[in-house]
Amino acid sequence: MWTMKALKARSKANPARRGAAPDTGKLANFSKTVESLAEIGRGFYARGWVLGTSGNFSAVVSRRPLRLAITSTGLDKGALMPGQFLEIDETANVVRGEGRPSAEALLHLAIVRGLQAGAVMHTHSVWSTVLSGTQVRDGGIVLEGYEMLKGLAGVQTHKHREWLPILENSQDMGELADRVTSTLEETPGLHGFLLQQHGLYTWGENPTEAKRHVEILEFLMEVLARSGTAPSR
Ligand SMILES: [Zn+2]
Repeated sequence: MWTMKALKARSKANPARRGAAPDTGKLANFSKTVESLAEIGRGFYARGWVLGTSGNFSAVVSRRPLRLAITSTGLDKGALMPGQFLEIDETANVVRGEGRPSAEALLHLAIVRGLQAGAVMHTHSVWSTVLSGTQVRDGGIVLEGYEMLKGLAGVQTHKHREWLPILENSQDMGELADRVTSTLEETPGLHGFLLQQHGLYTWGENPTEAKRHVEILEFLMEVLARSGTAPSR
């Protein structure tokens, strides 16, 4: 008779048998993913981008059915640990872990669905808060001419013109998720957007790419805000 341990060892040794134990791969994927998200989150806290329990991070751990690993609500991101992540389904119901997901989980799901993104990151930095307020009359921010733009997926030159839309903030996440979906549909090629006087959302095909996009966009917003020259569309 096979014990669970022996079955797992056998499944690992013989990939052809993995179909017999589908949860094994998914579990490994979840724990690896949340470890990486927790480390990224602590790093963002150290940079001052997710203070006071703000911000949230997610990554897709299964496409079919859709499952996201996501931070539960109200966590100090400076001490973020892998055990503080939840797994949610396509309607933001918790299927694994203790706690509630942030209300903003609906925005993560809208981005994952709309763009087939693999990871979504949301920060509340000083600079994104400043610019998403001062530039709201223009509907967004143009980022152009900066070498750092080449850190965004698919961008090859500093001459690239990146549009970062600013959406009006709301506490009605269903309504806001609908506006996020329409914004992503109307403007293909976006790498992120701002919520007015709130913060930044960006994404990537995996946590590493999404982290890089946060770093690039936060860098560029700080440059614009410090130089006092945020150009409009
Ligand atoms: Zn937020």
